[in-house]
Amino acid sequence: MAKVYYNGDINEAVLKGRKVAVIGYGSQGHAHAQNLRDSGFEVVVGLRQGKSWNSAVEDGFDVKTVHEASAEADVIMVLLPDEMQPQVYKNEIEPNLQAGKALVFAHGFNVHFNQIVPPHDVDVFLVAPKGPGHLVRRTFEEGAGVPALIGVYQDVSGTAKDLALAYAKGVGAARAGVLETSFKEETETDLFGEQAVLCGGLTSLVKAGFETLTEAGYQPEVAYFECLHELKLIVDLMYEDGLAGMRYSISDTAQWGDFVSGPRVVDEDTKKRMKDILTDIQDGKFAKGWILENQLNRPEFHAINEREKNHPIEVVGKELRAMMPFVKKQTKKEVVASAK
Ligand code: NDP
Ligand code: MG
Ligand code: MG
Repeated sequence: MAKVYYNGDINEAVLKGRKVAVIGYGSQGHAHAQNLRDSGFEVVVGLRQGKSWNSAVEDGFDVKTVHEASAEADVIMVLLPDEMQPQVYKNEIEPNLQAGKALVFAHGFNVHFNQIVPPHDVDVFLVAPKGPGHLVRRTFEEGAGVPALIGVYQDVSGTAKDLALAYAKGVGAARAGVLETSFKEETETDLFGEQAVLCGGLTSLVKAGFETLTEAGYQPEVAYFECLHELKLIVDLMYEDGLAGMRYSISDTAQWGDFVSGPRVVDEDTKKRMKDILTDIQDGKFAKGWILENQLNRPEFHAINEREKNHPIEVVGKELRAMMPFVKKQTKKEVVASAK
């Protein structure tokens, strides 16, 4: 079993007295900045002029340009969108990374795939909460936390891991549990999970089920309920109690259908394709495609996004959800954020 760190295992003194620059004030940024401040750490927020800048000022933060915030901080947490990070890093952060500082990420993508190459005389580590930022903030305010992964890429000071743990404690993650990983493992498993299961696998499964029913002449409204709406109830049960807990709650007919038909949908061939997806991630092929797509202004991303928005399941879903005000909107922001 991996070692799990909790508040009692962590001495946050190593981070006290060191100024933390939180770069970005979006989903993760606002939560990290606010939780660290409430935990007694000194925080400056680094941003460009705009929406986030105004929110951070309203929330009472000392807000500066990324350049200024990086210059005055000892620990720099980069919470910009992953695809923006290399450019902002090059122009505004790197010139301010003097020896002895620490560079921190919440996702290993840019460092692991060499889009950001940190200098050799700074600590580099990650603190990646395993949940969207709005949950990181909300659970903190409730006295709990969202678990996090930490990983050290470069330890110059000899205290990089202690710093990572202290940071994780500051954002409330050590109330729930902190696990150690590497940039490689965090990056590759995060990409695989969202592609094969959480986002890609799931949306394709839902659409295929919906299409199968509607093409057989069943009403789209009924197909929507059976293939999309009810998912949440099932996932909640799995989240609380695993597969067995979920199966305990469904009917025996549903459970028998699960046993005999599930493996017909996801079979050895599916798993073989999952392995291909993992290989593309490990080889850097996926990363390269996504980096190039961004450099070209995302032609394929936008085209697919338009097509997907007009899928019949979206059309009928919009109408049905308008009739079910209770399904909105508490988790929307979080769900949107977590799919990143
Ligand atoms: P968001 O898109 O929610 O926020 C990005 C922030 O960066 C905004 O405040 C935005 O401000 C600011 N920003 C964008 N471009 C610039 C720029 N050129 N200069 C200065 N500021 C800029 O990002 P996330 O919080 O989702 O992601 C941040 C990191 O956290 C990523 O590495 C991600 O992988 C990681 N992560 C995210 C999770 C999530 O659930 N969202 C979960 C775990 C990790 P503006 O208003 O000006 O656009
Ligand atoms: Mg991800
Ligand atoms: Mg049913």
